[in-house]
Amino acid sequence: MKYKFNHKSLSFEVEEISFRQRIKKILSYAATAIVFAVGCLLIYANFFSSPKEKRLKRELEATNLQIAYLDRRVNQLSHVLKGLEEKDDNLYRVLLDAEPAKERNAYWAVQEAPPSQLVTSKMVEDLSRKVNLLMLRTGKELESYAELWGMLQNMDERMSRVPAISPVKNPKVVSGFGMRYHPVYKILRRHTGVDLIGKRGQPVYATADGTVSSENPGSGYGISVVINHGNGYQTIYAHLSKANVRPGQKVKRGAVIGQMGSSGLASGVHLHYEVVKNGQKVNPVHFFYGDLSPEEYEQILKDAAVVNKALS
Ligand SMILES: [Zn+2]
Repeated sequence: MKYKFNHKSLSFEVEEISFRQRIKKILSYAATAIVFAVGCLLIYANFFSSPKEKRLKRELEATNLQIAYLDRRVNQLSHVLKGLEEKDDNLYRVLLDAEPAKERNAYWAVQEAPPSQLVTSKMVEDLSRKVNLLMLRTGKELESYAELWGMLQNMDERMSRVPAISPVKNPKVVSGFGMRYHPVYKILRRHTGVDLIGKRGQPVYATADGTVSSENPGSGYGISVVINHGNGYQTIYAHLSKANVRPGQKVKRGAVIGQMGSSGLASGVHLHYEVVKNGQKVNPVHFFYGDLSPEEYEQILKDAAVVNKALS
């Protein structure tokens, strides 16, 4: 109840408040209260967490830790796999004389990327990408092993086509591979094979399985036999007195393919023997290991290393 001073009657009178004014007043109080409450709620929401939010936050932190742990485990697995890949390339494939497995290095680079900052979605994304790569690499490695296993299955057949014996019995190297004096031209030039001395008519053997080629290695080679082994290897037997095989004929390792002589550009009876690998002439003495004792092999290496006059 409100009083009002009446200047005419000089007394206080009860002031009449209309219903409308009363409603207006109530509404204004209510509006103030609502604004205040909303303000309080906003402050609370921004600066304080609800128990549910606290729980979610804890869960998120734990999840991030778990992802970081899994990321480390994936990196460990990646390193183990990398070791297997390296062993595959540097041991198994070298032993089996196979090409290295391709496309690996690109995978390694991506796999080694450091984990991203602590944003859960980004971490999960990174991790799943790493796991996918790991699966891809594991698949490739399994393929590689299957390939190597296949190679091992026909290892005997493969090895029989690699030159592995001496082309003559009791080989005596008189001139090795490399720069040697030419007996006719009297100049130092590259000797592309080894010269083995012996008696005229002495048998010359195929050093690996293969097919006799019709290829002519050159006029200086005299009567010669060229054998293609079908795996990038080719062997050449020159200055023969007689060839026992004809082009197209299949020969086995150890088969007599001709007889020693001095045909072509030769200064004496000897066999000039060459090994060609993928078009490159390589040192034949490295392929004599099959039927020699270690001492005999060592002696051959010594003789072949001397820079002397080739018999051509
Ligand atoms: Zn020679």
